[in-house]
Amino acid sequence: MLKSALISASLLAMLASPFSGQNLPKARKSEQVALEYLGAAGWRISDGTTVILVDPYVSRILGPPPPLAPPYKRAPGDNRREYGWKDAAAPDEAAIEARIPRADYILVTHTHYDHVLDVPRIALRTHAVVIGTESTENVARAYSVPEEQLIPVRGGEDYEFGVFSLRVIPSLHSALDHKRYFSSERAPTGMKAPLTLEQIHPEGGTLVYLIRFQGHEILAFGGMNYIEREMQGLRPDVVLVGAGTSRKEIHDYTGRLMRALSFPPLVMPTHWDNFLAPYDASQQPAIDAVQSFVKEVAEASPKTKVIVPKYFEAIPLEPAAK
Ligand SMILES: [Zn+2]
Repeated sequence: MLKSALISASLLAMLASPFSGQNLPKARKSEQVALEYLGAAGWRISDGTTVILVDPYVSRILGPPPPLAPPYKRAPGDNRREYGWKDAAAPDEAAIEARIPRADYILVTHTHYDHVLDVPRIALRTHAVVIGTESTENVARAYSVPEEQLIPVRGGEDYEFGVFSLRVIPSLHSALDHKRYFSSERAPTGMKAPLTLEQIHPEGGTLVYLIRFQGHEILAFGGMNYIEREMQGLRPDVVLVGAGTSRKEIHDYTGRLMRALSFPPLVMPTHWDNFLAPYDASQQPAIDAVQSFVKEVAEASPKTKVIVPKYFEAIPLEPAAK
């Protein structure tokens, strides 16, 4: 009795809400943008129709760790193969099929394997357009991603795609290895698949993307640095900020960024998890470590909301104010 009363009450609420007066959202439901964290620096940004991916990496292979990272301790039951730099890297086809059913655009910030390993496979499966540096495009070319799907960018472009527009912003890689970068060369043309991890570790330069989509401006970083003068004057409502510990190599990393962006309403940390661990392993040490970033934002920009994302949990954005 009670159950059926509840059901009819919720049915009524569902039926009533589209007609309930002045507070109708401006965007139709299918136009509400939601973000999902894919782990590492990966995101899915969608309005229910168009799917834009940033640095999608769902294979999470047990590859070589970044310089100075603490050695990865296998979680119980983690019997995965370990890959060295000389090994050909195989994307996890099953993970890609299950987790990335479709995509229209893939934005790649740089050509390290935790950003680019899955990109050719996703592009071939979904026919998505791959936007990235020449280095990134060369990795895609090695896997025969058709040239029509490749848009090489340099930083400075502001491109119109109809459903969204994209400002490509020059940037800097994380100051890994105590400020010595980590392989800043470019992946060359003429490579042939399968590539070894060594062949997909030239960084090739680093980009940041400002995605203007359904009234939102989403600024997406793929690592822990930026060029402050390139940030000045941008007014994103959502910022995906690199929050790994190498940000501590940078002077006043979070404060300078928050001020340059005029204190954005919503910040979500990215590239803060341990991407060598499988999705079902505990991320508690990384979750603990990212709290210091949350504190930095609170201190520099008290009105900014910070959401530490969970894997594959849709985070819907408030409909954009016109
Ligand atoms: Zn990198």
